[in-house]
Amino acid sequence: MNSLRQLLSGLLLFVALVGAPSCSTPEIELGPVDAVVLIVVDTLRADRLSCYGYDAHATPHLDALAARGAFFRDAQAPASWTIPSMGALLTSQYPGQLGLVEREESVTNPRMRRKQHTHNLPLYERTLAERMEERGFDTAAFVDQPGLNTGRGFMQGFDHWAFPRHPGRIEVLTPDDPMRHRPWGGFLEHADKSDRALIESMDAWLGEHAAKPVFVWLHLLTPHYPYDPAAEFGVAEGEKDKSTLYDGEVRETDAMIGRVMEIIGQRLGWDRTLVILTSDHGEAFGEHGTWEHGQSLHREVVHVPLLLAAPGVPGGIEVDRRVRLLDIVPTVLTAAAVHHDPAELQGADLVPLLSGDGEDRPVFMEGMLYGGTEWALIRDDRKLMYDAQADSFLFFDPRRDPLELDDLSGTQKRRALGLLDAVETTHRLMAADRSHRLAAAAPGDTAVSAEERARVQQALKSLGY
Ligand SMILES: [Zn+2]
Repeated sequence: MNSLRQLLSGLLLFVALVGAPSCSTPEIELGPVDAVVLIVVDTLRADRLSCYGYDAHATPHLDALAARGAFFRDAQAPASWTIPSMGALLTSQYPGQLGLVEREESVTNPRMRRKQHTHNLPLYERTLAERMEERGFDTAAFVDQPGLNTGRGFMQGFDHWAFPRHPGRIEVLTPDDPMRHRPWGGFLEHADKSDRALIESMDAWLGEHAAKPVFVWLHLLTPHYPYDPAAEFGVAEGEKDKSTLYDGEVRETDAMIGRVMEIIGQRLGWDRTLVILTSDHGEAFGEHGTWEHGQSLHREVVHVPLLLAAPGVPGGIEVDRRVRLLDIVPTVLTAAAVHHDPAELQGADLVPLLSGDGEDRPVFMEGMLYGGTEWALIRDDRKLMYDAQADSFLFFDPRRDPLELDDLSGTQKRRALGLLDAVETTHRLMAADRSHRLAAAAPGDTAVSAEERARVQQALKSLGY
């Protein structure tokens, strides 16, 4: 024991003499990036990937992407369905600032009418693609999600928009194609059967553009309902269990990611390319009494995978800090050296977290496809979900109870009410910012000063702190 103690004190003396090791790893800096590939797998729950601890199956290609760079254990979507979540991802503004959670009143059949509500990403908002295009990147989107196609505002900034007009048949809309402004046309039957064709169309485009700076958004739909995985992905014929069928589609997607990684390696090369893979929301299988998504803000529908690979990022980095889809735009802009004002964006660069710096980031969520209006705020070890119609709330400790099984609103009411105050303040700021944005977009606006707009945006950024 004595000799061990001597050894330890000798070691400590040595460390003191040569300089104590830093608590965090050396600062990571991304190498020059002139190609960015944003992969969004619609409806992909983080906890169905083996790198996130799922042990019922393996997702080797997604794991390989995670091992190549960093993976974020706790990435949160700002909404539980596609339109508000993708609007926020592509602008680094909350869905409420973009008007993507406003509802039509006077609904006779709430479920069907809300399914078809006409929220669009406003054309006056600056999207990631527009910022990249202005900087000289060739921009292309390959999007298998009818909800994001035609007339929804998501095509802004993309020179090349490839989508399946019919399952498996990819068409391209150039910027002046009037089809881009056609009102939204509804959901395609078998919409999720086009991912392989879309990936090959991306390969062909990169074959012609990879010598230049490029920004590519690939949006895959396979895990989305209906759950009907191809036969070779290990689901028995006649299987009825939705979760088992969904897993088959996750494995099918994993195989496609293998092909995407091959294309990135061949066409672009990993030494110049920032690759980010994530999802717009998760999927529920009855955990809190709901199915699919868009019906709650519980973890199963907002916890998404987030993987990042880039030159300068050593492999195998795990980030435990809570992060948000809102953080993707500032990360890409910083990595690709695209000038921007960080104060205009609600998210923040993810790269400092790779070195172990930084804290959990607070997350505000809203935006439901069905049902009532619900807001949620996660801050530190607290998550509050507020149902505006019922004027009731649930309160969880996400660190101790990540599955949100133990509602603490009765036993920790005072703490819950503190967070409820922050939720209400955030909601008020969100509404103020939304009206400032609308006013600023109208001709001849002088009503709100730039200082006042900046003040509201800054207050919003602090989410009630
Ligand atoms: Zn979606």
